[in-house]
Amino acid sequence: MDNVQLKQDIIDYSKEIGIDKIGFASADVFSELKERLRTQQSLGYQSGFEKGSIEERTEPERLLPEAKSIISIALAYPSRIKNAPKSSKDERRGVFCRASWGVDYHVVLREKLEKLNTFIKEKIPGASNKVMVDTGELSDRAVAERAGIGFSGKNTAIITPEFGSYVYLGELITNIPFVPDKPLADGCGSCTKCLDACPTGALVQGGQLNAQKCLAFQTQTKGFLDDEYRSKIGNFIYGFDTCQVVCPYNKNVDFHLHEELEPDPDVAKPKLKPMLRMSNREFKKTFGHIAGSWRGKKPLQRNALIALAHYRDESAVDEIIEVMNNDVRPVIRGTAAWALGKIGTDEAYRAIRKAMTKEEDEQVIVEMEKGLCFQQESSAR
Ligand code: SF4
Repeated sequence: MDNVQLKQDIIDYSKEIGIDKIGFASADVFSELKERLRTQQSLGYQSGFEKGSIEERTEPERLLPEAKSIISIALAYPSRIKNAPKSSKDERRGVFCRASWGVDYHVVLREKLEKLNTFIKEKIPGASNKVMVDTGELSDRAVAERAGIGFSGKNTAIITPEFGSYVYLGELITNIPFVPDKPLADGCGSCTKCLDACPTGALVQGGQLNAQKCLAFQTQTKGFLDDEYRSKIGNFIYGFDTCQVVCPYNKNVDFHLHEELEPDPDVAKPKLKPMLRMSNREFKKTFGHIAGSWRGKKPLQRNALIALAHYRDESAVDEIIEVMNNDVRPVIRGTAAWALGKIGTDEAYRAIRKAMTKEEDEQVIVEMEKGLCFQQESSAR
């Protein structure tokens, strides 16, 4: 079968199975990306979540020795929640970033790519393919850029003309040589909205990300969150969207094309107080199916405490005291103490002082001291 026809058949089939955009790229080495990753590594800009060596991330042949092409796919996801519940004074809510709404996109994309894999193998029985979504070594974004899915914005997201940057990306490496599609021209021009809006200055050198400063990354760490980030994550429980929200290409972009990607309003914007004491079973039942659960419940609970502090939610003081006194995890006890100090009621300060007489963990004691400092600061004003 000639590959031009096969390419067209794959494009047609991709539409049938609900893939919103598809592009074809060569499997040549991603030389420019390799240089960029080396620079990032030397500057300490990597998150630590990256899989594989720089070579594995930039040389498709290391993943599939006979690789000739890479097929890149994109699925559009919603940017607005229908009937979103409101955060009220007595029942404050957090929020997951948009890329964590609905069913975990790894599952949804993998299913589509496996269908594509089967389809190709039925047509070409000797085809050798490898499916990858995000957690694979290859950079989804570099592949999508080369395959003409979108251009790479200064916010490091792939921006499609049709769906903005609200797209999930995945790819399939294959030994079939396809005529590649053309990359799109850069569309950022002189715009710097995302760079200006990033609260931590994580976007550097136009298109480079210092992942260590990125709040999306910081919400996923498991230790104590650095003080400088606590005031900046606001009510985000997982991920951070600002660099996408401010992008003109995302203005009024809101696609609801896939039932699985539709957010459950109470999961995407969860009530904060019930998150503090949820059991592992409750956590799995409520959040287990979304992408934002991959680091377990501790970072989400830590961030929920920070969000309650952000709101200065006095109605949460009793629950936070309970957590500070009884949770076995120092990160949670310490963050609870800090949050109590931030909320700043007399009861909260009394509870910190009392808990401090029994606390043995040094880091938790430091957080308690920070919490009590807020009292001194407010009485000095
Ligand atoms: Fe590019 Fe402006 Fe969008 Fe940033 S906000 S990605 S600079 S268009």
